[in-house]
Amino acid sequence: MPLYEYISEESDDVSRSCPACRQGFEIRRQLNQSPLDKCPLCKHAVKRLISRVSSPKIAKPLCVADAKSKGFTILEKRDEGVYEKL
Ligand SMILES: [Zn+2]
Repeated sequence: MPLYEYISEESDDVSRSCPACRQGFEIRRQLNQSPLDKCPLCKHAVKRLISRVSSPKIAKPLCVADAKSKGFTILEKRDEGVYEKL
């Protein structure tokens, strides 16, 4: 079964995401299952991340406009300070 990574569509909005999908989570899905579009925990919208191999963490910085023109979704890394206050 392939392992997929998902992350919240609105990871900067604590009312529309949960700790799991704000950070991103991995889930095994069978090929014949339809893609997840909601977090299994909080039921808010999630999107699939591309595989670890081309993860934004290790990818070279790209021009946002270039990447968008190639169909990439740009993930903006935010400072630690914007995470939920406990
Ligand atoms: Zn969630």
